Amino acid sequence: MTSSRSRNLSRLPLREELQGQEPYGAPQLSVKAMLNVNETTYDVPADVVDAIGKEVRAAAAHLNRYPDREFSVLRDKLAEYLNRDLASEAQPAELTAEHIWAANGSNEIMQHILQAFAGPGRSVLAFPPTYSMYPLYARGTYSEYIAGTRAADFTQTPEDVAAQIREHRPNVVILCSPNNPTGTALSLETVEAAYAAAEESETMVVVDEAYGEFRQSGTGSALALLPGREKLIVSRTMSKAFALAGGRLGYLAAAPEVTDAMRLVRLPYHLSAVTQATAVAALDHSATLMANVERIKEQRDRIVGSLEQMGLHPAPSDANFVFFGGLADEKAAWQHLLDDGILIRDVGIPGHLRVTAGTAEETSDFLASLQRFITSTT
Ligand code: PMP
Repeated sequence: MTSSRSRNLSRLPLREELQGQEPYGAPQLSVKAMLNVNETTYDVPADVVDAIGKEVRAAAAHLNRYPDREFSVLRDKLAEYLNRDLASEAQPAELTAEHIWAANGSNEIMQHILQAFAGPGRSVLAFPPTYSMYPLYARGTYSEYIAGTRAADFTQTPEDVAAQIREHRPNVVILCSPNNPTGTALSLETVEAAYAAAEESETMVVVDEAYGEFRQSGTGSALALLPGREKLIVSRTMSKAFALAGGRLGYLAAAPEVTDAMRLVRLPYHLSAVTQATAVAALDHSATLMANVERIKEQRDRIVGSLEQMGLHPAPSDANFVFFGGLADEKAAWQHLLDDGILIRDVGIPGHLRVTAGTAEETSDFLASLQRFITSTT
């Protein structure tokens, strides 16, 4: 098969902004420890596999029909789940299906948001280093992408975020908390200040909480800020804490008017009956699926502590991964780990790499291999 890299796209009348561009593509290599895209590395437990199989089988009998365009059962279950997630933090939420929208991964959620609220002649502000897809969502929706800034330690203060929103007056601002690739979470005061500044320019505020379930105790979810803020959107996904990256289910919580706006841009029947059945079964077993979240958080904290002991500089993390600096040659470190069967992520920031927190064994293998690299190069 011809590789897509060797084909010449310049013969096609491609949109100008796409000419010479590379598609998103973290390496998909089959190695012992795949710690590069922040999945849960535990397999789906057998009883959940059975439950998903049963639900998908029932849906299969009706695949001659289009799926429920409103995915009502799924939206009910997502609302219940979020209410439970917030109840455990004593921040009461009263979300119903009306507040929920879902799509094929939070990538599609973001695309729907930008299709509705950004677009030609409109702009999107985000704060790099942050999720590398944000500029691509902007490009795909013909929106201008504005790269804001954050402090050298990757944190963001309420004053700074508010000032940048007032300066740029974007149509959409994306706050990523916990932030990928740094793991940094935002205080709720920062989100509140961002929202207050955004109201002046009628800016939609999106908080991407793809890693929300891994937050440290004491870090709040922006879901608690939804009441009374109709331009606030909180995006979540089942790809991370739910161990369901292959199921492709992302969702948002916002005012019912926002979900109505999403209906204007979605393609008809965008969530297949198979996707809906899979997600519903997973939500019915959320406790089992999420049983590993605490274990993953332990490994995350262990990685931070161990990297510090090695003399490296890990950023504090509220996510299921750790971003660390202090490497003289991050490319050599990345290759050394890969040679040992451990795939982590080079996010293109000199001296830094990012590693997903997996099982205790994967963490041990990663730490031992990295220690060997450090010892051999100093
Ligand atoms: N937001 C962030 C911050 C992410 O890191 C990711 C995945 N890496 C996504 C959104 C998209 O995830 P998905 O489409 O699988 O929900």
